[in-house]
Amino acid sequence: MRIDIITVLPQLLESPFEHSILKRAIDKGLVEVNLINLRDYSTHKQKSVDDYAFGGGAGMVMSIEPIANCINALKAEREYDEVIYTSPDGELLDQKMSNRLSTLKNIIILCGHYKGVDQRVRDLFITKEISIGDYVLSGGELAAAVISDSIIRLIPGAMSDETSALTDSFQDNLLAPPVYTRPADFNGIKVPEVLLSGHTANIENWRYEESVKRTKERRPDLLK
Ligand code: SAH
Repeated sequence: MRIDIITVLPQLLESPFEHSILKRAIDKGLVEVNLINLRDYSTHKQKSVDDYAFGGGAGMVMSIEPIANCINALKAEREYDEVIYTSPDGELLDQKMSNRLSTLKNIIILCGHYKGVDQRVRDLFITKEISIGDYVLSGGELAAAVISDSIIRLIPGAMSDETSALTDSFQDNLLAPPVYTRPADFNGIKVPEVLLSGHTANIENWRYEESVKRTKERRPDLLK
């Protein structure tokens, strides 16, 4: 898989891909992540990528020309399955969406800034708009990192234990059950007996029941 992230702040996005599961997936060649500096596609002397909003009002708008130049240059090299724009008015990211995106070959993620991008960018180039939650960020970079993280960890081979992703929250519309590690007794507070029993079927049953219980309590909407 290849993820091309278009941003005015490539440095902001370096660290998320330099650690843990994401780094390992990149090192193993399971995914290639390219941070593309939008300013490289600006034809202005000052490399500007934004301008005043038509009709006035506070806040700058990201111009269409550098974004068009950048996306067209990428598209000339390969086909893309999705050209994503991070936006608070997009479709809410969830595990189902991440599962689907993780099966794609090439995607572009465009990070917005200021008041967002000129609407014509969205009309002409964007195939999918994703929000990571009902709040407003200063830029699309952290959203792009969240989207990429949730996708990359699902690529087979990215996690050392492949079954781990399948037992995470939201797969099967259930939240994950509680987890424990040593010591079995912390100041008299004990780990549930069944987890120490070594009885796989009973443990699986307990975990399933705890998952259902937790989902009913915290996210009954998932069970509908
Ligand atoms: N004026 C816009 C918000 C701009 S915030 C509005 O009210 O909808 C600047 C940029 O941050 C956006 O263009 C988008 O790329 C990114 N962003 C902000 N909040 C986001 C969210 N919840 N999910 C994904 N991207 C977001």
